[in-house]
Amino acid sequence: MQTKKQTRDFHHALAVQADLCTGCTHCMAVCPTRAIRIRNGKAIILANRCVDCGECYKACPVSAIAVEQDDLQMIFRFPVRVILIPSILIGQFPRKIMASSIYNALKEIGFTHVFEVENTVDMVIEAGRQIMLENKERPVISSFCPAIVRLIQVKFPSLVDNILKVNPPIDMSAMYYREKLKMSGIPAENIGLFYATPCAAKIAAVKSPVGEIESAIDGVINMDLLYNRILNYLQRKYTETTPPETDDLLSSRGILWSTTRGEAIHSAGRALAIDGIQNVNEFLENIENEKLDKIDFLELRACDESCAGGILMSGNRFLTVERLKNRSDEYRAREDDKIRKVQDGYLDITEHGFLGNIEPRPIEKLDEDISAALKKVERKRRMMCYLPGFDCGGCGAPDCQTLAEDIVTGNGQISQCIFLQQQMIKQNLLSQSQAVKITGDIWGKERLEKNCNKIGAENENN
Ligand code: SF4
Ligand code: SF4
Repeated sequence: MQTKKQTRDFHHALAVQADLCTGCTHCMAVCPTRAIRIRNGKAIILANRCVDCGECYKACPVSAIAVEQDDLQMIFRFPVRVILIPSILIGQFPRKIMASSIYNALKEIGFTHVFEVENTVDMVIEAGRQIMLENKERPVISSFCPAIVRLIQVKFPSLVDNILKVNPPIDMSAMYYREKLKMSGIPAENIGLFYATPCAAKIAAVKSPVGEIESAIDGVINMDLLYNRILNYLQRKYTETTPPETDDLLSSRGILWSTTRGEAIHSAGRALAIDGIQNVNEFLENIENEKLDKIDFLELRACDESCAGGILMSGNRFLTVERLKNRSDEYRAREDDKIRKVQDGYLDITEHGFLGNIEPRPIEKLDEDISAALKKVERKRRMMCYLPGFDCGGCGAPDCQTLAEDIVTGNGQISQCIFLQQQMIKQNLLSQSQAVKITGDIWGKERLEKNCNKIGAENENN
């Protein structure tokens, strides 16, 4: 088994566009890791807490949160340009559109080869089976969804060792296909591999992989961009009536892999599938508090309906899942071999199938030094005796607990609390003008002035 080192810093694919942000706090309220604060009337994302789940993106009423996008033109740096697509890309289009039409559209965009990442799912299943046999730690938690892996690293660090250290199909396919092209005589430097991503977490995972030194992928193309280009092609061109010549590794199992239960149904023992980051959060809290046991495998996905609900998906997620089920049934009907060929000489699972160490990155650790951390826990507890517990967000943090944590870690002050400010003014601990300045630093000075056209008032009603 190969040992790989982990890249130190998290790359993030989501960013607040300050010129559009109205400071409405919708994003702050939904963030599962409490990564958002309001400063100077704008949302800011704390890099060490964000897991790129995309909840803030979905909640923003004025589209002020942007997803990073690699320039499509970069693909032309390579003579051989491979687009690795998840099957959900095809599932977004009506069933009458043959997959071959979508392959052709991608070739018109500029790719020379199209490869569905689920081609290597049977290799992933085999590698997972080997680990489950060797490792007795339970529950084993899937490493498929990068937002969930990061969530565990930052919020549930005691569960890091439970993560299944198997390369997901995207990485397995990138390594497999590169090797296959090299063995056909194409020089390695001529091959560019690009991934069509349905979400921000996968962009972040390609740019700073967990458990790998570097990704086998050269760039990421956002799925919404490809969807619009494919739609444009389909409206202009004759559409195919025969299926594409796909690699013979694609199976009925593979097609459903990225849908909810796509992974769990292949696990031995008691396996559960949970989608939606808030559901996952709640479930992991129960696991951590040992309220749940005797579970062998957990498939956890950040998005509702798994990848079909990714923030860069344009198609309706429920219809996408239905179409994938139909496509999988068609494949199953013509699969004569019940046991698929999992190795065909291009990729050695023992060498490339496994992830290296995944480090915990706890956000709730108040200090590196244990005795200092214990003192801060006590200080935080005392701080909560003063804070009102309304979780109103007026301090620019999502709740009173978070403000207390910010205070003891030197990132906040008690006078940020708009209720305690009044007490402090009464006790001459704070002047009126100091209180106005503190509140202005959080919400922006213009927010406190009388102005019927101020930014939030207008945009909220649009
Ligand atoms: S992407 Fe998720 S974790 Fe990051 S700031 Fe947005 S809601 Fe929070
Ligand atoms: S406008 Fe509101 S939801 Fe959007 S980024 Fe700013 S504070 Fe967050």
